[in-house]
Amino acid sequence: MSTNTESNPFTIEFADRLKELPPYLFVEIDRAKRAAMAQGRDVINLGIGDPDYPTHPHIIEALKEAAQDPDTHHYALDNGLLELREEIANWFQNRFNVALDVETEIHPCIGSKEGIAHLPLGIINPKDKVVLTDPAYPAYRPSIQFAGGKIVNVPLKAGNGFLPDVSKIAAMKDVKMVLVNYPNNPTSATATKEFYTELVNCAREKGFIIVSDMAYSEVYYDGEKPISILEIEGAKDVAIEFHSLSKTYYMTGWRIGWACGNPTLVAALAKVKSNFDSGIFTAIQKAGIVALRSAPEVTEEMRELYQDRRDYLINGLRGLGWKITPPKAAFYVWAKIPKGFSSSMETSKAFLDKSDIVVTPGNGFGEAGEGYVRMALTVSKERINQAVERLAKVL
Ligand SMILES: *Cc1c(COP(=O)(O)O)cnc(C)c1O
Repeated sequence: MSTNTESNPFTIEFADRLKELPPYLFVEIDRAKRAAMAQGRDVINLGIGDPDYPTHPHIIEALKEAAQDPDTHHYALDNGLLELREEIANWFQNRFNVALDVETEIHPCIGSKEGIAHLPLGIINPKDKVVLTDPAYPAYRPSIQFAGGKIVNVPLKAGNGFLPDVSKIAAMKDVKMVLVNYPNNPTSATATKEFYTELVNCAREKGFIIVSDMAYSEVYYDGEKPISILEIEGAKDVAIEFHSLSKTYYMTGWRIGWACGNPTLVAALAKVKSNFDSGIFTAIQKAGIVALRSAPEVTEEMRELYQDRRDYLINGLRGLGWKITPPKAAFYVWAKIPKGFSSSMETSKAFLDKSDIVVTPGNGFGEAGEGYVRMALTVSKERINQAVERLAKVL
C-alpha cells in the first residue's frame, strides 16, 4: 500500500524484504469464496485447517481462574514459567520417552508458528542454504527470506510417501538447515523411523541443522502414533522441534506452543525472541499446564472425531469414483484432482462455482502441489455428507 496525497508529498513504500515475498496464491480462491458468501450462498468450507470445536471447558476455567490473579498481569519471564517447562518435559517423556532439560532444552513460544518464523533470524546468515520441501506450510518461506537465506526446494512425491529423498540432500553442498514437517500439512504424511534416522545421520555427517515442525503430533489415525525426531539417537546434537497446543487441544487462538531439542538452537531462538516479545500471557501459560495434564480421553475423542469424518469423506468420494488415499495423520485429505480436471485451481474454482464447496488448490503450497487439492476435516459429519452429495453433481 502506498499513500501520495497533497499533504503527504512523498510515497511510503514497503521494505524490499516485504516486496520480495512470493505472491499469496490463495488470493484468487479467497476472493471467490468471499463473493459467494456475500451472495448468501451456503458455502461448505473445507479450505481452512482450524478446528471447529471450542477449547475444552477445563482449560477455559483454568484461564479464568489464572486471569483473576494479579500476579499473572505482568510481563512474563522470557523462558516461560518453570512449571510450564516442567509439564512440557513430563508430557514429552510420557509421549516420546525422550528426556528434556527444563532449563536449556525447552522454550515456550507464542504459538509454534511464531517460533518457527523467528528461529532463522538467530541461526541463518545471508546466503545460507536452507532446504524446504515442496509442497510446504506457507509460513516457512518468508521466515527464511527475512533472514536472507537461500531456499532450495526438494519435492515431496506420493511414490516416496511424501518424504524428501535424503540422498538428494546429502548430495547438496553447504546446506545450513533442513526444515521438515510430519505429520505433514498439506499431504498428511507421517515420517518413518528409517527416514528420520537417515536424515539425522546425514545432518551429523554434513553439519546441518534440522528443524522439525510437529504441530500435528496428536492428530493421528488407526492408533499409529507419529514419532518425534528427538527419539532418534544423536538427534539432539542437530535438531530442534516445534510443538503446539493449537491442534491438540482446540486452542488455535490462544497462541501457545514450544520449541525443544538442541540447547544452542533453543538459546538462539530465545535470544531472538527476547528482542521481539515479552513472553506468553502468564494466565495462558497456566491454562497450558492444565491442558497438558488433560486426561487421555481428551485427545482420543478428538482423534475419533476426525477419523469418523475422514472415513465419511473418503468413502463418499470413492463412491463417486474419486480414488483417494486416506490420511494417516493430521486433519487434511490431500487428493489428486479428479478425472476430467486439468489443474488444482480449475478444480477449486469448479467446486466453488458449481457446488459452493471450498477446497484449497494444492499449488498454493508450492509447485509440486499442482494436481492436488487439500480438504480439511474441520467441519461436521453432516456438512461432509452434504459436500459429498453436492459433489455428486460435479464429478
Ligand atoms: C497449524 C500449523 C502450525 C501452527 O500453529 P500454531 O498455532 O502457531 O502453534 C504449525 N505448522 C503447521 C504445519 C500447521 O499446520
